[in-house]
Amino acid sequence: MSLKLYNSLSRKIEDFVPINPELVTMYTCGPTVYYYQTIGNFRTVILSDIVHRVILFNDYKVRHVSNFTDVGHLNGDHDDILDPNTGEDKIELQARKESKSAKEITDYYIDDYKQSLNQLNIKSRTFTRATEYIKEQIDMIQVLEKKGFTYRTSDGIYFDASKFSAYGDLSGYKANQILEGARVDINSEKRNPNDFALWKFSKPEDNRLQEYESPWGVGFPGWHIECSAMAIKELGVSIDIHIGGEDLRMIHHQNEIAQSECATGEKFANFWVHGAFLQVDGGRMGKSLGNAYTMQDLVANGVDPLAYRYLCLTAHYRSPLNFTWESVNAAQNALHNLYSQVEELKEVKNSEIDSTYHSRFKEALNEDLNLPRALAVVWDMLKSGIPDETKVVTLAEFDKVLGLNLLDHVGFVIPKKVEDLAKTRDAYRKAGIWDKADIIRKEIDSLGYLVEDTKSGYKLKRKI
Ligand code: AMP
Ligand code: ZN
Repeated sequence: MSLKLYNSLSRKIEDFVPINPELVTMYTCGPTVYYYQTIGNFRTVILSDIVHRVILFNDYKVRHVSNFTDVGHLNGDHDDILDPNTGEDKIELQARKESKSAKEITDYYIDDYKQSLNQLNIKSRTFTRATEYIKEQIDMIQVLEKKGFTYRTSDGIYFDASKFSAYGDLSGYKANQILEGARVDINSEKRNPNDFALWKFSKPEDNRLQEYESPWGVGFPGWHIECSAMAIKELGVSIDIHIGGEDLRMIHHQNEIAQSECATGEKFANFWVHGAFLQVDGGRMGKSLGNAYTMQDLVANGVDPLAYRYLCLTAHYRSPLNFTWESVNAAQNALHNLYSQVEELKEVKNSEIDSTYHSRFKEALNEDLNLPRALAVVWDMLKSGIPDETKVVTLAEFDKVLGLNLLDHVGFVIPKKVEDLAKTRDAYRKAGIWDKADIIRKEIDSLGYLVEDTKSGYKLKRKI
């Protein structure tokens, strides 16, 4: 069964057919690197990683690019609905707050983000920084200008959305329609509500830390243009899959399509994949609400980052996922149970994979990334009566997509010292010498093992 994906552009599940079967191209809208990323951001990162791995699982090669917004994202879009071309630059604000340069800020938060990606087992991808593609952004704006898609206002060069007839195909909002729920636009020089800045002029009073020469004067690129310029430079004018959180569909991605297709005359992306938001305690996550948790918060509360990854896999990517400390702890317990089951498997080389479980797993993935069902297949296989060695090689295939480090736990051998302690403890118990048995249980515990008493004796487990 071949891969099917829901395409937000057609609003249908479609067969995935790559433009070039030799190399699938993917672009994921990455973070604005002015602060620590939230676990919500990482839900979308995990989605893009799953898409990447599922493409590989279907025997394609992939080139995956993801950006860092390190300039030009203004904070006028607090409600994720208004124009991100207004307000203050998020990076400049943070740099002033921390008395650092913009580069020091973005380097620091990029580094922090990459550490989290490692902890979450995100496969390597090519990163691009908006500040390293200023020329490409200017070139693209010039092409748009020559083709008559732009106009000038007192604060910048704008894209005229009414000149792109397909404007609204992705968002559902035509160029001159005001987005539902949006506040009245504060920029009265815009011709249509959905026009957006391609280039913003620096105002002397802003004393900007990051500004660049351009044919229109000193300034900086608007937020949307960076993704189009970087995607086209790195992946070509038409890409297979473009990914982001659902908040980006209405404005950012619609604008990426408009400017890219007007500049190149080609379809920008065949598939648009949008992940539903992570909610916290059933509602919005926000810094002001004190629930915008970071990966550090999870780790400080004893949560293994891979337990968070597991939690994300338990919900379909197009359904909201509610984060609570209970839900992430339950995911951690489930993951540890999985590890315990895997530890009981004995590793024997040279076995064939189980084709029935493998095709059930692949079918679940290929039906629009049904990871909850794929996880159920993993549990079913572990419970089944197929030989251990078959389980191990099949699991190795599954973990290529799950990314849960399952193989690290195969055939774990309890150290002899721990086995001996457990035997001694058992002898004390049988003799009714409970205090000594308890001292040994504590010693076993301090070595990282748990001893569980069973009807037939005892069982040793590694504490994970
Ligand atoms: P930003 O740094 O706000 O530009 O966001 C970076 C990426 O994270 C984008 O793809 C957003 O759609 C995504 N994102 C932000 N918040 C959440 C959330 N609560 N749940 C899922 N994805 C999110
Ligand atoms: Zn983008």
